[in-house]
Amino acid sequence: MALSVRVVGVGDAFTARYYNACLLVETADTRLLIDAPPALARALRDLGDRGGPTIGLDDVDHVLITHLHGDHMGGLEQLLFWRRFVTGRRSALYAIPEVLSGLWDARLRGGMDVLVDAAGARHPLGLDDYADVTPMPSPGEAFTIGSLTLSWRPTKHHIPTSALRIRAGASSLGYSADTSFDPSLIEWLAPSDLVVHETNLGIHTPLASLVGLDPSLRARMKLIHYPDFHDVDASPIGCAREGDRYDL
Ligand SMILES: [Zn+2]
Repeated sequence: MALSVRVVGVGDAFTARYYNACLLVETADTRLLIDAPPALARALRDLGDRGGPTIGLDDVDHVLITHLHGDHMGGLEQLLFWRRFVTGRRSALYAIPEVLSGLWDARLRGGMDVLVDAAGARHPLGLDDYADVTPMPSPGEAFTIGSLTLSWRPTKHHIPTSALRIRAGASSLGYSADTSFDPSLIEWLAPSDLVVHETNLGIHTPLASLVGLDPSLRARMKLIHYPDFHDVDASPIGCAREGDRYDL
């Protein structure tokens, strides 16, 4: 087994039933969290209740944020606070440059950019004080995180968003992240052993458009980011379920 994928959360932005969409990608020596949704510590802990080893915030040394919607990064403050102030372990943080610039200035700094000590003195902090930040390179250009080799391309979403291909040895994962139906993106993801693809209403990918794909691709596809009402037992394409583990 070279590459394993554990499903942390499967829900959409409005879910009252699941954790928000989140994956944990692992090799023997690398563990990468794909997105950091709200209630992250509980979502990771629940992996242990679902048959896998228990994962804590200190076990996530690498985190990649696909885009700035709150259901994909709302747990990052929890992760970074914990590791800086409780256990003192830095995370490595990856995202495309547009996401990184907004991550601090538009999302995190209001709650994280100053520490007022007991004497009232103010100590300014920046994102670099919390994490080792690495911008992802140009689309299609390979980069490594531990023993993983990754590349990304933009999706069709309201804000800049990165779909991912992740490889370890001969095993590979493709992840659509949030996107409208985009045949060229699916073609880019399709060579992967496993394709995790979103589906939802509105600007997202309609299930009907995925059902029309080649059967050999559908057989390697798992749905994520589906609405609460989606019938996972009767789904025409298999659904990722929280706690699932795929060994590729
Ligand atoms: Zn989104």
